[in-house]
Formats: sequence, structure tokens, C-alpha cells
Amino acid sequence: MVKKTKITFDHSKCGFAGTTDPRECRECLRVCDPAVLLLHPTLEDHPDPHNPEKWIVDAIWLSKCTGCMRCVEICPENAIEVVPGDSLAYIRST
Ligand code: SF4
Ligand code: SF4
Repeated sequence: MVKKTKITFDHSKCGFAGTTDPRECRECLRVCDPAVLLLHPTLEDHPDPHNPEKWIVDAIWLSKCTGCMRCVEICPENAIEVVPGDSLAYIRST
């Protein structure tokens, strides 16, 4: 079976349960050339767009990820984990 790329964010470090407001940091978004990531409000019943605790970064377009690890390396909170899938292992070895 083909292993897909996995990108996870620890929102206890950045986002609704963390100390970093992703709208003020945005470093992972800035360095990701293929624009895999998206900053968005949490989808609660009554989201408050002015509450920094209600915004998070997530990986949306996983198939575009090149596995460059720039987001992991630049994140000041060590909040991002990228586990390359089989297709990325191929790309990175060529
Ligand atoms: S590993 Fe690279 S391409 Fe993938 S999400 Fe992070 S910065 Fe973007
Ligand atoms: S680089 Fe890290 S701390 Fe900054 S917005 Fe992205 S996940 Fe949050």
C-alpha cells in the first residue's frame, strides 16, 4: 500500500491551546513555496475571528508537499511534523 505524506500541527504550541498566535508568526506559510498550508479559524459553532486562540495553521494541499522540511526547520515552536510518504521519498532521491 502507498504511504501518504502526513503533516501534523501541535495546536497546544501554536493555535487555540498554545501561546503563539499563528496570524502573527506565519513563518511556515511564508517558506512553503507550493502553498500546502492554510491559516484559518477553527470551525466551531460560534467562531470568533478576533480571538487569536481560534485560529490555526493546517496542511490542506498535501499532494503538493515536496518534503523540503522548511516549515519544520523554521517553526519557533517545534509545532510541525512532516512524515514524507512514498511519493516524496521518490522525489527526494532523484
Ligand atoms: S515540507 Fe516543505 S513543501 Fe511540505 S509543507 Fe513543509 S514547507 Fe511546504
Ligand atoms: S511557524 Fe510554527 S509557530 Fe509559526 S505559524 Fe507556523 S506552526 Fe505556528
